Amino acid sequence: MTSFSKGNGGSSNFAEERRLMVESQIRKRGVADERVLLAMATVPRHEFAPRSRVHQAYADEPLPIGYGQTISQPYIVAAMLASLELTGREKVLEIGTGCGYQAAVVSLLAREVHTVEHLPELAQSSAERLRRLGYRNVHVHYGDGTLGFADSSPYGAILIAAAAPTVPEPLLEQLAEGGRLVAPVGEEDRQELQLFTKRASQLIVKQCGPCRFVPLMGKYGRRG
Ligand code: SAH
Repeated sequence: MTSFSKGNGGSSNFAEERRLMVESQIRKRGVADERVLLAMATVPRHEFAPRSRVHQAYADEPLPIGYGQTISQPYIVAAMLASLELTGREKVLEIGTGCGYQAAVVSLLAREVHTVEHLPELAQSSAERLRRLGYRNVHVHYGDGTLGFADSSPYGAILIAAAAPTVPEPLLEQLAEGGRLVAPVGEEDRQELQLFTKRASQLIVKQCGPCRFVPLMGKYGRRG
């Protein structure tokens, strides 16, 4: 069973800002999955923002987190998670931990989360932050996420939080039968959110609309 008591979202302030964020930015735009809405209303997004950006944590826009990276706009985080249709029993792989915000939201919707970040400073600070906030079912790994994290595969769901021209092959391989993978696919300035479902070892692709993410680097991403 998934519990929504993990983390300290319930006891911190900004609860009203979170409620407004969920109602005006997310539910109103069509995300109807109540578990996703509750998780978004629970995780204290301001705890993941740099100190100078705390006042912007619940705004309807991406949030800079340093090192040229951003956490996606709250609506995009919610829409990606809703597309995965998580039940609470899955093992999930996230590529691009960033500040750990999306991993924290996923941790309330799944059994176990593995998240991979290639910038050592972000991997370390996110692991510390998630531990401090009590998200015990999230495991942060430092490395090239385009290789996935084979040790814990297969995954019931995979989400890629950075954009590449194609989805890295190792990630499609590490997706369980019946599993779902959501990723921004395309060039730097033209990307489409795509949802892949694995059925009988075949991938069914659904286009979910235009989006804009920072680039996915690494062996099967952009070389840099
Ligand atoms: N989900 C994050 C935001 C992700 S921003 C959050 O909630 O904060 C995209 C992240 O992907 C950045 O932190 C970037 O460093 C990371 N990234 C880019 N290429 C990567 C790769 N090959 N492996 C792992 N992480 C990568």
